[in-house]
Amino acid sequence: MRTPFDAALQERLMRYAAIDSQSDETSDSQPSTAIQLDVSRMLVDELTAMGARDVTLTEYGVVLATVPGTAPGPTIGFCSHVDTAPAFCATGVKPRVHRAYDGTPIRFPDAPDLELSPETVPYLGEKIGCDIVTASGATLLGADDKAGIAIIVTMAEHLLHTPGLAHGPVRLAFTPDEEIGRGVDPRLPADFAVDFAYTLDGSKPGEIEYESFSADGAEVVITGVSIHTGWAKGKLVNALHLAAKVVEMLPQATMTPETTEGRDGFWHVYEMSGTAAEARIKLILRDFELGGLAAKGAMLHAVCDALAATEPRAGIACTIRPQYRNMRYWLEDDMTPVDLARAACRDAGIEPVSTAIRGGTDGSRLTEMGVPCPNIFTGQQEIHGPLEWISVQDMALATRVCLELVQRAARSE
Ligand SMILES: [Zn+2]
Repeated sequence: MRTPFDAALQERLMRYAAIDSQSDETSDSQPSTAIQLDVSRMLVDELTAMGARDVTLTEYGVVLATVPGTAPGPTIGFCSHVDTAPAFCATGVKPRVHRAYDGTPIRFPDAPDLELSPETVPYLGEKIGCDIVTASGATLLGADDKAGIAIIVTMAEHLLHTPGLAHGPVRLAFTPDEEIGRGVDPRLPADFAVDFAYTLDGSKPGEIEYESFSADGAEVVITGVSIHTGWAKGKLVNALHLAAKVVEMLPQATMTPETTEGRDGFWHVYEMSGTAAEARIKLILRDFELGGLAAKGAMLHAVCDALAATEPRAGIACTIRPQYRNMRYWLEDDMTPVDLARAACRDAGIEPVSTAIRGGTDGSRLTEMGVPCPNIFTGQQEIHGPLEWISVQDMALATRVCLELVQRAARSE
């Protein structure tokens, strides 16, 4: 069951996962947290030691490196993110290996009631005999996306240390702040300097994704009329009441994340704050099609306008700003990177599958900025929570796919 890459992948994932590198949406600094650079600096040292060229940590916090080509071919980039999700505790991660997994429920030392079982997670049942990595129950694991980093670094090591392996130039990029949507600095496309690239941030073996959501962020600011409650009759306009009405007037049974799947988009309120005098509602809008995304924005505006009409003394300001766009819009003009990854999957003995990502990746932004960038699987499962797990052998498959890909690209030159 063990493959030649297993030991290196497992060691790297465990080492990277143990470092807290959580990003923080509320921070204005770049990167959002300085601890992310602990991983970045470790990568600089590791890549330098293994003989990678041009190893740099840019002033915007991205580690870049080159594996020089041994044959003519396009310059291909591989990208993953050093941060872990702010959604769950990521401090003090203690990765554990369940060697040659036996199919029984996995228990966690730091959360006795928690159980990871093939009964509730059927894919785990397919991994009997594989080496499974989990956290200890108190934290997420951070295989999202330290599995991606481990795969890319292990691929680079193999390319650098295997004489006679024909491939074009390979560029590596390790970004901060992907989880908070700030991974792609405007300077990155030029500094990356690739013909096309791949994020390694997907899930099951065979997944080659080239569709993401199109995404907008929205904020509604409601200004009421504040006055002493003892003399408020006929004068007070309570901003919090109006904020509650905005949410209440939006469709909740059909168009929220908890009621949609597949290719359906949604609106989602993720933060409400304020006082009777002023209230703020923060939302995200998601759809695979720009028309559907615009319709959700129009719906939000209509709700705000309708409410404003019932209470002209209040101020209701709704602003919508673009976040990222479905990468399919660009990739379908030239499917070469997608077709190459699919062919590389078959070379590695896996049937490729393409599903639409109900989210975005750094690749969504990169693609929009002129660097075509589909997403390749890593094996990461149950991400952003304490049940997060990954099979080392799935990571090894992803490493194989990347190696087949760069060789195939050089052959077709
Ligand atoms: Zn990720």
